[in-house]
Amino acid sequence: MTDPADFSQSPPQPSVSGSLDEFSLIRRYFHHRQGGSVVLGPGDDGALLTPPADQQLVMTQDTSLVDRHFPADMAPADVGYRCLAVNISDLAAMGATPLWFLLSLTLPEVEADWLAGFSRGLFELADQAGISLVGGDITRGPLSVSIQATGAVPPGLALRRDGARAGDQICVGGVTGAGLLGLEQWQAGQRHGPAVGHFRRPRPQWELGMALRGQASACIDISDGVLADLNHILQASGELGACLDEAALPDDPSVLAGCSVDKQRALQLQGGDDYLLLFTLPPSKPVPQGSYCLGRIEAQPGMRLRQRDGAVRTLTVTGWQHF
Ligand code: ADP
Ligand code: MG
Repeated sequence: MTDPADFSQSPPQPSVSGSLDEFSLIRRYFHHRQGGSVVLGPGDDGALLTPPADQQLVMTQDTSLVDRHFPADMAPADVGYRCLAVNISDLAAMGATPLWFLLSLTLPEVEADWLAGFSRGLFELADQAGISLVGGDITRGPLSVSIQATGAVPPGLALRRDGARAGDQICVGGVTGAGLLGLEQWQAGQRHGPAVGHFRRPRPQWELGMALRGQASACIDISDGVLADLNHILQASGELGACLDEAALPDDPSVLAGCSVDKQRALQLQGGDDYLLLFTLPPSKPVPQGSYCLGRIEAQPGMRLRQRDGAVRTLTVTGWQHF
């Protein structure tokens, strides 16, 4: 029997750094300006942080794997941007102010150009969102980027999935569908255009999330599509239902141009990778500028779509059925 505390049989971990030692690599690519709450960032055994007084912390983690969550031929700056964006989007969905993140990077090899591009895209978004890299880890293996992000929210004001009520307005923070369309265009060889831009660099909505504190009754960020993510709110809030209004689905002709009406509906309702906020608002609350009201929460379970001709279709998470 091996003593569980005996690690002597673990193989030695190969150094990832090749000629550049790990500390020089971190200093060169991952030391960046930090917010005042960071007493000690990368370089010691742990980060030392001052949490904002009287706030609750929100923590989230997401791992992005090459060929699964981002394509192998995506520019490194876009990989850096996108991997941080999906984590900031989770903070946004909780209504949190972004504060700090840890970066666990697995690299097949150390490539200076790749690391320079990756860190450029990463810090471009980090600076916009005011979030500081405070530490991490680097290992050798198939490319993967795991980020743990922390934010803060005043007690009781975090946005959750479980607060929707019948009668609430169902709102979305922008035009959905561009993320999936961009992925499809990328897979077809296209490298430019508005939809590909949304796919490469989704813009997480942390300002909207913070503005929704004390306003929204429930909130989630759209990673799997409006229907799938709305369904999470409905289930968490006690098996409620929803009716969406076809005429109210926002579209951006410059993005969805060229798609058939059916394709546009599928993208708007089922397209993932948008990283926009989907939230519910009590009937008396105004819809924020730039957001759209898609329909209403109802007591009757299930999801429905009121068509332009007035007929009501049953929606499922994976599609829709005709009556
Ligand atoms: P330890 O062996 O004590 O775990 P490491 O050698 O893994 O330390 O890391 C040394 C320091 O560098 C730590 O402060 C760690 O947070 C930081 N660090 C490691 N990788 C990264 C990275 N990818 N980005 C930012 N900081 C990192
Ligand atoms: Mg370590």
